[in-house]
Amino acid sequence: MDKAIPCEIRGSKWTCLFTSDNRILGPSNLGRCIYDSQVIAIRKRLTGTDAIGTTIHEWLHGFFPDAREEVILQAESELLSLLDSLGMLADEWASDEI
Ligand SMILES: [Zn+2]
Repeated sequence: MDKAIPCEIRGSKWTCLFTSDNRILGPSNLGRCIYDSQVIAIRKRLTGTDAIGTTIHEWLHGFFPDAREEVILQAESELLSLLDSLGMLADEWASDEI
């Protein structure tokens, strides 16, 4: 079952949707930022760092709609590194599917 969690980007209400629906995600995407409906879709089977990184990635797309993919990937990677260095990716909750 999909799980929809409200979130905020630049003061607007968005939805963070954890789903397996390929009609929403596309057949091979781990996540997708859908500007028209203000939805960040995350593939539901992702866990741990993959889920966190994909959520950060799609949220960044929502926050910086004009940013190039390379910039989003670099920001995702560097933020994940920081969180990892701080031990924030080691918590047990991060290993469960949402
Ligand atoms: Zn991207």
